[in-house]
Amino acid sequence: MHNAAFAALGIEARYEALDVPSAALPDALARLAEPDCYGANVTVPHKVAVMALLEVLTPEAQAVGAVNTLIQHQGRLVGHNTDASGFLRALREDAGFEPAGALACVLGAGGAARAVVYALLGAGARVALHNRTEAKAAALAREFAPLGPLELLSAAELERRLSSCDLLVNATSVGMGERDPDVSPLPPGALPARGLVCDIVYRPARTRLLREAEAAGLATQNGLPMLVYQGAEAFARWTGAAAPVPVMMAAARRALEPGRA
Ligand code: NAP
Repeated sequence: MHNAAFAALGIEARYEALDVPSAALPDALARLAEPDCYGANVTVPHKVAVMALLEVLTPEAQAVGAVNTLIQHQGRLVGHNTDASGFLRALREDAGFEPAGALACVLGAGGAARAVVYALLGAGARVALHNRTEAKAAALAREFAPLGPLELLSAAELERRLSSCDLLVNATSVGMGERDPDVSPLPPGALPARGLVCDIVYRPARTRLLREAEAAGLATQNGLPMLVYQGAEAFARWTGAAAPVPVMMAAARRALEPGRA
């Protein structure tokens, strides 16, 4: 989607994937800080680890506690987070869902869950959080409690809460990729009673969770709009140009949802 955006705006640049082992992260950052580079995205497993290697973090990156975007500025890399704003924009603009006053059940406590919980609390939602490793959810809840109403759910409490939530977000990696295509993060038969089910996984396009939610008549959203909007904000910060969102959306759909593009 970034290469499609560069082409659409006539910007001579290219976006490429770098496979960076943890030990090589400092060297990779030094290369990315050179003036011929706009910056980069950072993904699993470096989103948190990279923070200690950066001199400058934006307030959003600090608040979320994870970096997904690096911006090269005068030979230094600034660490930023566009996952939170991308998630919120996708909810509002693509699903037509306003989080203010809503009860949101969030699954997960990794880097993506941090961005989702931060975004939802900032937008005025109440959040109920469940994670397989409860200690990680408890640590996240302690950290984010000052931002708004946030409660922890055990597995049993999650099932009960599903009857009253307005939004369910899967921010775990369950259901992602070819490795895990047919598993759901919810126990068999469990689904919210109403509202929107959002799975931020974008490959496959229809996870088991989304297929089951659709079959039950619930509104659904996959991770593609969030992916595009977090990328659009990164693109704008790198280039100073307004991101051509429809071009990026179409390119992402061609790559990830070829049947629907
Ligand atoms: P992460 O930091 O590695 O966290 C993974 C989370 O998934 C943890 O909460 C982990 O629970 C949970 N998990 C993993 N396997 C599980 C299992 N078998 N059963 C229950 N829980 C399990 O990863 P992340 O960066 O947060 O990414 C999570 C997902 O979000 C990925 O699929 C990623 O592709 C997606 N994502 C999408 C976008 C987008 O733009 N759409 C952006 C960012 C991320 P434990 O704590 O118990 O290990």
